[in-house]
Amino acid sequence: MQDFFKPDIPDDAIYHVGVSGGKDSGAVLLWMVHESGIPRHQINATFCDTGHEHDWTYAQIETLSKHVHPIETLKPKLGFFELAENKQRFPSSEARFCTQNLKIFPTQDHVRYLLDAYKHVVAVSGVRSAESYDRAKLLEWDYSGNLLCIAWRPLITWKIEDVLAIHAKYGIPMNKLYEAGSERVGCFPCIMCKKKEIRSIAIKFPERIDLIRNKEREFGSSFFTPGRTPKRFHSGSCVNKKGETVTFPYIDDVVKWSMTGKRAKGSYLDDEPEPVSCSSGFCE
Ligand code: SF4
Repeated sequence: MQDFFKPDIPDDAIYHVGVSGGKDSGAVLLWMVHESGIPRHQINATFCDTGHEHDWTYAQIETLSKHVHPIETLKPKLGFFELAENKQRFPSSEARFCTQNLKIFPTQDHVRYLLDAYKHVVAVSGVRSAESYDRAKLLEWDYSGNLLCIAWRPLITWKIEDVLAIHAKYGIPMNKLYEAGSERVGCFPCIMCKKKEIRSIAIKFPERIDLIRNKEREFGSSFFTPGRTPKRFHSGSCVNKKGETVTFPYIDDVVKWSMTGKRAKGSYLDDEPEPVSCSSGFCE
């Protein structure tokens, strides 16, 4: 969606770019540095380390930091698993405290610091309207986001081809996780990842499934919510506060489910609902 206004930005404003290690934030960093005309010293890039990223994501941040623009790593107070332990449950699409604690709060603290030091700050994100219904509603410029300053989404009308092209143009490879079957890059796995991504992780990175299984046992909580799979894949059960018995899938159930259906047989027909992606712009 095109913007209905373009604000007056002071010449000395600092442009903060949140980088996730994913394709869109990589594209916006490349565009800001090489094509926006904004002097490099006015560009400030950060990466929120959730403590639950794949090694290839850390490698991608290093590549971008070395070859495109220095990226500062922000650490939340508690990493993904410490947060889950603290809350005695994993986050879910209904209780998505992960994005807020792992990404939004550390970025807000950083933007506060920039505002104190430089006064005028613009938060730049690589969100594109083509990615989801929710993101299609976002404007190129707005003040209504989670950050404490104006938000700018210069790639809002970009297509995936534009994202691939700018990486190729400046000789920056994309995160290897895409080649391995990930559609989005973030926590590995993300609580909102798709069925085919779970299947791909189980096949190519079984150690991540082992990690989740161990954490489920440690916390006594399932990584995915009951709605993630049909009930026939629920091997867990508990009694809720109302005294009702509810069932849910453990990670091994979710993996079993991920190996079923048309997609597992190589067809990508959309026969089952998938979780919606986050529109905050903090998680790819
Ligand atoms: S990538 Fe997924 S699990 Fe990680 S903070 Fe974002 S929504 Fe939560």
